[in-house]
Amino acid sequence: MLGWSINLFRVFGIQLAMHVSFLLLLAYVGYDGWTEGGWFGAVVNMLLVVAFFVCVVLHELGHSLTARRYGVQVPRILLMPIGGMAEFDRIPRQPRAELLITAAGPAVNFAIVAVLVVALGLPHGFPLHVEFEDSLTGVGHLLLYWNAIMGTFNLLPVFPMDGGRIFRALLARKLDYLRATYWAALIGKILAGVLACVAAVYFKNPFVTVLFIFIFFAGDAEYRLLLRREREAEHWAAWAKRLAAAQAATPPQNPDDPSPPPPPLILHGPN
Ligand SMILES: [Zn+2]
Repeated sequence: MLGWSINLFRVFGIQLAMHVSFLLLLAYVGYDGWTEGGWFGAVVNMLLVVAFFVCVVLHELGHSLTARRYGVQVPRILLMPIGGMAEFDRIPRQPRAELLITAAGPAVNFAIVAVLVVALGLPHGFPLHVEFEDSLTGVGHLLLYWNAIMGTFNLLPVFPMDGGRIFRALLARKLDYLRATYWAALIGKILAGVLACVAAVYFKNPFVTVLFIFIFFAGDAEYRLLLRREREAEHWAAWAKRLAAAQAATPPQNPDDPSPPPPPLILHGPN
């Protein structure tokens, strides 16, 4: 399903791509604007969605550029109606690296909020009863509000959202990495299930409901992938140990002239 995407352009060498379902989102908000304000309303609505997703891309670049400092390859950032995803070839296991890479995304949102607060001040009624003027300042306030929500929302401890990854990194300081992921994913799945129900029943918000259902399965999938890699690594480590033991058990031809040590082993897998 994630293969149905359109490549846009590269930013810092990372391919920016748009999932085809993103076109449905643009069509939906365009139609919504058109029913209220004709073509002008349609164009304004679509530009607002583009501005929102520029902030999403900046958030993902926060993660991606920090990750590259730790040697992670980031081939692509994919935009979907429910948000953006930076694709990493791996996630560093050092809790400190994972903490910094993860925190860099929301930090970008809060930096945007800080710049907009300095430039425009806070909107009326911020944060719970916000009112937006029908002007360029209003658009700036809308971006400020969206970034405040994006930064805060991503810090919910629902693995694999940013807050859940930070939670996993903190657990991994005390627990084995796999156990830390197990607990972060389990708690994340429970919270994602509860929040999906709250979004559906209480807020009647289909986007957020779908987002939490997606997060529920993404957390589970990431834990299972890690489990499989750990088992493969264990398998190869046991194999290498058996091979080394077998080589050690073979006596050298002449004890006074031992044969050279065997070359280092090349292991196939897990990567
Ligand atoms: Zn993030």
